Amino acid sequence: MNKVLLIYTGGTIGMKEDPADQTLRPFDFGSLMEEVPELRKFALKIDSYTFDPLIDSSDIEPGMWQKLAGIIERHYEAYDGFVVLHGTDTMAYSASALSYMLQNLSKPVVFTGSQLPIGRLRTDGRENLVSAVEIAGSKLPDGSATVPEVCIYFNSLLLRGNRSTKVDADGFDAFRSPNMPPLAEAGIDIRFNHDLIRRPSGGEFGIGTALDTRVSILKVHPGITEQVVKDVLLGSATRAVILETFGCGNAPSRDWFLDIIRQASDSGKILLNVTQCLRGTVNMDLYATGRALSRAGVLSGYDITLEGALGKLFFLMGKNNDNEYVKSYLERNLRGEITK
Ligand code: ASP
Repeated sequence: MNKVLLIYTGGTIGMKEDPADQTLRPFDFGSLMEEVPELRKFALKIDSYTFDPLIDSSDIEPGMWQKLAGIIERHYEAYDGFVVLHGTDTMAYSASALSYMLQNLSKPVVFTGSQLPIGRLRTDGRENLVSAVEIAGSKLPDGSATVPEVCIYFNSLLLRGNRSTKVDADGFDAFRSPNMPPLAEAGIDIRFNHDLIRRPSGGEFGIGTALDTRVSILKVHPGITEQVVKDVLLGSATRAVILETFGCGNAPSRDWFLDIIRQASDSGKILLNVTQCLRGTVNMDLYATGRALSRAGVLSGYDITLEGALGKLFFLMGKNNDNEYVKSYLERNLRGEITK
């Protein structure tokens, strides 16, 4: 019998209303299993691990990703797949980070959660949980895992984790991977897009838990001031800056803006260009404004999500103190996070 480990970190899926003030607070995981008796019908052995304390995902810190990676590593041999129950607010950040931290993954790690607590009528949590468990336990005829990737299952869609983003604050259809089709869609059956699913590299599984979080994000906008750009780009607390740019990677072309970019780049900072658009890719060769960034030393994030870029930087910077090393890997496709 295939074995799945359910790791419950917190989030709406396992919350209930506090009668005192009607706010949602986490409840005991044992009750969650009682709420979803369907889980017992699978020909799967399902064990669970509960975070203590449970966390609203707005409080997720890289330390919790390290903890999660450690739990998966310790249980890796004993289980065929993992389901991580997680709040939706930062699920795409966590799935992205884990996709880099879990190296040579050959088993599914499926994140899921819900917009309505599982105890509520019309909850989306029940279907999300049941299908996520089915996917985590699914094998191909040769006995290998059907989806050996870190992914997010939500509202009938299985998405690559580091390609996903939360697109709806309160609707059930809350996640998309705008630059990549789903890895699977659940209808009467779960239809896997086998051609898109990454196969294991063959190396030995391991975790990389060193993370360096000295990253700032600068979202450019009309009216951005010189002082703000200076503070973010030249501040001593940052080793890398993600520039969230317009369209296909464009930013203001005024001299002061490019001077600050050049100063930051000359001082060795890592500068990564990620588009503000939901869909499409950075291409700094298209317009003069983009080309100026590229000449000033800004690297292309291609079609990466902001969440995917943040995790990639944390991971690469944690691996090596040399910024040139980080830059040499940033434009490479490490875990299917960019189309290249
Ligand atoms: N605030 C919750 C969280 O992200 C919302 C959710 O679970 O969807 O933890």
